[in-house]
Amino acid sequence: MKTCPVCHGVCSDRGACPHCQADLNRLFEVEEAAQAHLEEAGDALRRGNYPQGLYHASRSVSLKITPKGLGLLCEAALFTKDFPLARRCMEQMARMKS
Ligand SMILES: [Zn+2]
Repeated sequence: MKTCPVCHGVCSDRGACPHCQADLNRLFEVEEAAQAHLEEAGDALRRGNYPQGLYHASRSVSLKITPKGLGLLCEAALFTKDFPLARRCMEQMARMKS
C-alpha cells in the first residue's frame, strides 16, 4: 500500500492519484528502482563483492529509506570498513524502531 506524496491518500495503482489526480508514475518508478538496487545489494553481498553491495545499498537508501535497505547498507559499510557510515546506519535504524 502506498501513500500519495501530495494528498497522503491511499493509492495502489500507477497513473493518477484517485483522490487528487497527482501523477504517481514517478513515485512507482522510484520505489521500483529502490527495490531493484536492494536486490542487487543483497546479491553482491552474498557473492562477497562488498564495494558493489555498498554501491547498490546506498543507491537504494538514497531513493527510499527502509529498515532492510539500512541493514544492507550497514552490512556493506562494515565489510568495506566504513565504520562511520555503519554507525550512522545503526543510529538511523534505532530511530526507526522507536
Ligand atoms: Zn493524491
